[in-house]
Amino acid sequence: MKTLDQLNRYTQDLENSDRMPVLFLGHGSPMNAIEENEFVTGFRDVAKTLPTPRAILCVSAHWYTKGTKVTAMKTPRTIHDFGGFPRSLYEVQYPAPGNPELAAETKELLSPEMVELDQTWGLDHGAWSVIKHLYPEADVPVIQLSIDYTKPAAWHYDLARRLESLRNKGILIIGSGNIIHNLRLVDFANFDRDNYGYDWAIEAHEMINNWLLNGDFQSLLKDRPEQKALQLAIPTPDHYLPLIYTLGLKNKEEEIGLFNDKLLAGSLSMTSLKIE
Ligand code: ZN
Repeated sequence: MKTLDQLNRYTQDLENSDRMPVLFLGHGSPMNAIEENEFVTGFRDVAKTLPTPRAILCVSAHWYTKGTKVTAMKTPRTIHDFGGFPRSLYEVQYPAPGNPELAAETKELLSPEMVELDQTWGLDHGAWSVIKHLYPEADVPVIQLSIDYTKPAAWHYDLARRLESLRNKGILIIGSGNIIHNLRLVDFANFDRDNYGYDWAIEAHEMINNWLLNGDFQSLLKDRPEQKALQLAIPTPDHYLPLIYTLGLKNKEEEIGLFNDKLLAGSLSMTSLKIE
């Protein structure tokens, strides 16, 4: 049995690896877990460019909690946290192991912020529906970090910065959400139309991409933007904040590469980022 102190040194004991890129993945519909489409291909293609990670730390839009938690179980369950989809989607299991040592190390890195080691969550579809395309063998351990819904964007940005050292230890950090995500206005009749966004979505997409590529993070960190297009694009912060975690992990010298950069069904974007 390892002592807690030994556990906390888990990553300190690991040899430095090549610096791991950081990903933000636009996960879109849960059906992406079992469909073949250009976005799934985009996930697979980006995985081919990555060094094999020792483990994954995922910040999913679908684990939105009071306070910050990190999954610390050895075998996280596959959570089917959605309704009204075909049975085949509920049958998907993603049996990647957890990594209690990495969870303890994450808690340590985030101190003095109080982080709860969680034994009840598992992998929600924000995590498994995309990670299964990166690592279909489920052979890379995965932990999740929750998003504290009581905190502003700048707080999440600062919190993410404390995890930066994990990138040199072979840990792949993934934010999973959707930058433009207005579910109430989704045009389901036009779900298959290529790169289809409402006027305000086109405007918000252009604005946000420019800020991302020009490094204007101050504009991206505003909790209450005055632009109407942004208010419609980000009606609630849950699917946007995973992006803020990935931005917090970016070094000044690094670049942001976009992929899957398309609008979908009027009011969603699948835009994904690789930072390296
Ligand atoms: Zn989602």
